[in-house]
This record gives sequence, C-alpha cells and structure tokens, in this order.
Amino acid sequence: MTDPKTKIVQAQIGADPAHGSVPPPLYLSSTYLWPSPSEKGIYDYGRTNNPNRDGLAETLAELDGGAGAVVTSSGMSALDLTLNLIQADDLVIAPHDCYGGTHRLLTHRAEQGRIRVEFIDQSDEKALQAALAKSPALVMIESPSNPLMRVVDVKAICAAVKAAGAISVVDNTFLSPLRLRPFDLGADIAVQSTTKYINGHSDIIGGCVVAKSEDHAEKLAWWANCTGVTASAFDCHQTLRGLRTLALRLDAAEANATAIAKFLDTQSQVKTVYSPALPSHPQYKIIQAQQSGPGAMLSFEIEGGLDAATQFCEALSIFKLAASLGGVESLICVPETMTHRGMAESARREAGISDGLLRLSVGIEAIDDLLADLTKGFSAVS
Ligand SMILES: *Cc1c(COP(=O)(O)O)cnc(C)c1O
Repeated sequence: MTDPKTKIVQAQIGADPAHGSVPPPLYLSSTYLWPSPSEKGIYDYGRTNNPNRDGLAETLAELDGGAGAVVTSSGMSALDLTLNLIQADDLVIAPHDCYGGTHRLLTHRAEQGRIRVEFIDQSDEKALQAALAKSPALVMIESPSNPLMRVVDVKAICAAVKAAGAISVVDNTFLSPLRLRPFDLGADIAVQSTTKYINGHSDIIGGCVVAKSEDHAEKLAWWANCTGVTASAFDCHQTLRGLRTLALRLDAAEANATAIAKFLDTQSQVKTVYSPALPSHPQYKIIQAQQSGPGAMLSFEIEGGLDAATQFCEALSIFKLAASLGGVESLICVPETMTHRGMAESARREAGISDGLLRLSVGIEAIDDLLADLTKGFSAVS
C-alpha cells in the first residue's frame, strides 16, 4: 500500500482502540489520566500531543516522505516555527515575491533584531550566489509564486543552499505533496498552509512543517510544544477529513484550471495569462521536470486596469470575490486591492503586479459553468 492516494484515504481508518470507530474519533480533551504519579500515558496534555493532531501529523509526514511533522495553528505559525531552527542574528534568504504574510513575518522579525533577512530574485543565479556567499542559516523557497506563477528550479536552489551549509525550507502550499516533492528535490523542510489544498474546503486555518531529518523533526516538535503553536484537535480532525480527497480534488481543479488558462489565452481582452499549465510559461521546462501537474492557480492581466478588473469581478456569480485559495469552490481576487495591498505600489509594479491583474483559485465545479461565468465577466467590461 504505497500509493499516496491510498495512504491519505486510509489514514487513521479503523484505528480507534476504544470502540472500533471506522473514521477516527475526535478527542477534544485537554488533559489525560496518568496511570500513576511516576508513570505517564502516551497522552498527557493537549498542547503537547493529541490523537487527532498526531494522526494528521503522521499522515502528512508520510505523504511528504519526512521523518516527522508538526501540525500548527496556521501556515504562518508553521513558517515562524521553522525560525526556531536558527540562532539570533542569523541570515534568512527569501524570494522577493514570496507570500505577503511571509514577507511581513521575516521583515518584522528582522526589525526586532531576531534575524537578518534578505529578499532576492531566486531565479537570478548571480543574486542567489551572492546571497549564499553571505553564509545564510536558512533559505525559504516558494514555487510557483503568488500571484504571477513564477517558477524556480527547486532542485538547483536546494543543492546550492546545501553547499552553503544552510537549511532549505520549501513552502509547498500552491502545489501540495501530490504535485511537488520537496524532499526528492533536496529540501530539508517542507511547509504547507493546510488552510489551502490540504484541507481543501475553506473551513479551517492550519499549517504543517514536515522535516526530512529526525533531528529537525524533534527540534520542531519541541519548539511547537514550548511555544504552543500546535493546532486544535477539531481543526486536525477536519483537516484529515479534507485531506482524504486531495487527489480527486487536485485532479479536477487542475483540469479546470488548464481549460481556463487555454480559454483566457484566446480572449482579446486579456493581455497576459500567467499559468504553469501553458507551454508558453517561461519556465515550462522546469515545471515539467519538477511538478507532476500544473496546479490549479493562475492569474491574468485584463485590458483596462483596475476599473476593468473590478467590472469583471462584479459580473461573476460562480467565482466568488475572496482572497485565499485551494478550496473546492472557485475564487477570484484582485491582488492590487486585496491580497497584495500591503505592498508599496512601486514594489507591486517592480514585481510585475499590474492593477488589472486577476488571480483565480480554480475549484472543482463543472467546467462549462466556469467558462460561462468568465465569459459573462468579459461581456460586462466596457
Ligand atoms: C496562505 C499561505 C500562507 C499562510 O497560511 P495561513 O494558513 O493563512 O497562515 C503561507 N504561504 C502561502 C504560499 C500561502 O498561500
């Protein structure tokens, strides 16, 4: 039973020692009985461990092929947890177009004097080599990027990071372990915002950190208990339930996203389509080598700037106007005024984010309905 699809469906099924419940029961208890004052059971206190959290962690560790995982309260607490692997004043390198919350976290941790941080274009070999020459302790990697779907060569970067003696952390939220395998590409740590594809139903906030080595896994678990960033039992129960259908959801969403990318590419009102599904993607070769599918995120620039983008969104009924991604339902957002509003306008322009950019998280609805909805959007733009 090695196929990951089978593993995630079967995870914790029929494993209830108390009553033989087929799906795992939910343990909300904060505290557990001690057999005697000098003898602790497997479980003692819910921040430290919980059957639902442990079951999810085990499943996610196995899915990535890591030594262990920590399930946290959010993707951000997962990323922050990784900073406990380094020392005060250590240098962290991150992509200049990383997730906004990651940019804010690293910037403010640096302002506090806890770490030093440098944001670079990781597809620029010279910039990467120059940054690695400064002996960083940890390098964060994200691919594809948000919202422009830029792709970097994860294997090449991880090898360079290893040679520089640093820890590589891949934020694999956009693809999940079913589309990109961080450890096969040489990463030390894989992070997910489980809020997105892993849970897949837009009804929990969560994260996880998977470590390739036993040593990192132990340290991360220790710090997670120490700082209390571990996820609630209910969220873990919910997330494992969502995870079971990840393979089906991804297949369906990806097929829809591919059809939509091709459709957008033919529209006269579209300036550019940014999609890993299109052979015209500038890093298509890397995508084919390192991903087992294009994922279901894409963005496109509409003619007419913010006004056109606004009219387009307001005419849609199936695509809901909301940030976030990875749910079964299709979402649309305007990075200019929504997900990337925290960035300075100049920084947005420098990153290539125009005010007419629209980002889609494509769901699993019937493709004809999605295409009809988008067609309605284009008709509404004057
Ligand atoms: C959403 C997201 C995060 C943050 O996760 P939360 O669960 O919202 O805290 C981090 N990285 C990426 C790439 C994301 O999309």
